Amino acid sequence: MTILENVRVLHFHPGSVSGPTDIAIDGGKIVEVGRGLAARHPGAERLSPGGYVSPGLVCSHNHFYSALSRGLMVAIEPSKDFAQQLKNMWWLLDRAIDEGITRASGLAGAADAAMLGVTSVVDHHASPEFIDGSLDVLAEGFETVGLRGVLCYETTDRNGRDGARAGVRENERFARRVDDARKTGGDPLVEAAIGAHAPFTVDDETLSGLASACSSTGRGLHIHVAEDKFDAVDSRYRFGKDICVRLDEAGLLGPKTILGHGLYLTDSEVELVNARDSFIAHNARSNMNNCVGYNDKIGRYRNPVLGTDGIGSDMIEEAGFAFFKHHDSGGARWMDAFLEMLQNGNRLLERYFPGKRFGRVEAGYEADLTFWDYDPPTPLESGNVAGHVAFGMGSRMVSGTMVAGRFIVKDRKPVFDAAAIAQRGRDETRRLWQRMEERK
Ligand SMILES: [Zn+2]
Repeated sequence: MTILENVRVLHFHPGSVSGPTDIAIDGGKIVEVGRGLAARHPGAERLSPGGYVSPGLVCSHNHFYSALSRGLMVAIEPSKDFAQQLKNMWWLLDRAIDEGITRASGLAGAADAAMLGVTSVVDHHASPEFIDGSLDVLAEGFETVGLRGVLCYETTDRNGRDGARAGVRENERFARRVDDARKTGGDPLVEAAIGAHAPFTVDDETLSGLASACSSTGRGLHIHVAEDKFDAVDSRYRFGKDICVRLDEAGLLGPKTILGHGLYLTDSEVELVNARDSFIAHNARSNMNNCVGYNDKIGRYRNPVLGTDGIGSDMIEEAGFAFFKHHDSGGARWMDAFLEMLQNGNRLLERYFPGKRFGRVEAGYEADLTFWDYDPPTPLESGNVAGHVAFGMGSRMVSGTMVAGRFIVKDRKPVFDAAAIAQRGRDETRRLWQRMEERK
């Protein structure tokens, strides 16, 4: 048993701040929160990290495969629209990814997330020239760092029928690997979803393959939808129906479904997504970066969550951008609405990790925690948490990250070999950029 002594508990949503208290952790879970716990458990390890302890931050949509595109020095053709941007940049990148680059990307992405106080990342992976086994290699990064995750492979038709089948197969195989680990008594940190790129690159045959993978594995679909208007128009032109109607008719909208973006979904699709209890991942920074527009319907979803869509894993910055973009576009919601979206990522985790509870510093919840070295010049109280996060707090104040009761960052120092991960990243990046040049 470990006892964190004399810390203040901070919940971002609903916002609350406690007085000094103790947190007892055993077997990866929080077992008790209250004063004087050390005296009652004399054999326990005692730690006094100081500052605030919050539930771990969750990134609900990310792409670690883009971790080595930071500072990219490959001449990318200019694009006139989002479809061209995918072709000229993102599909050039993912085609150049091989096993070594996948491994280095997973490690770099996981290390970055850990240092930013993120305890769980929902990832969407693509590497069309290295599909079979890619999720195992990506999972190595999560496991080495000690990060929790939900992984999938983005199945797509754009590399032919065989490529699409290989994508579905990789998703199913990885989900079975997780099930096997659990059957033999394991408690895997990394779960599986069933991934697909986007409706405009997935025909009806591939969609039905994805639907059977979801039902045979008991997982949900993780897919981009209507990130750009093109996807919504294509669905009505080629298939004669709205994207979400098409997904729903294939049996793919349910309580484990994760839809990325959704900027151009119609009002009736929003209702359908809500009726099916599915998640919608909002990625404001990415939408701004890709000039695709703004999801001004985000506040009308039952289960909105926040992702970075591959722009690192800084969830405090992401929540802040989501809030400022919302205000900039004339919206009236306050920062607490975006902290609620961040908090909702925990509900997504609960649907993928059976029997576990996430997102509160209370007995019975997983000990996935973020430690904050925050000493503000104005009072931090239960009523003004959102204002502190919007205008003062930042991930630079993260002093520790704990996943399943184990520190992966402690006293601002990584418990994993961050220097080796960074060096490997730089080495593989040179190869990645070279391979991108060769594929142009
Ligand atoms: Zn994405």
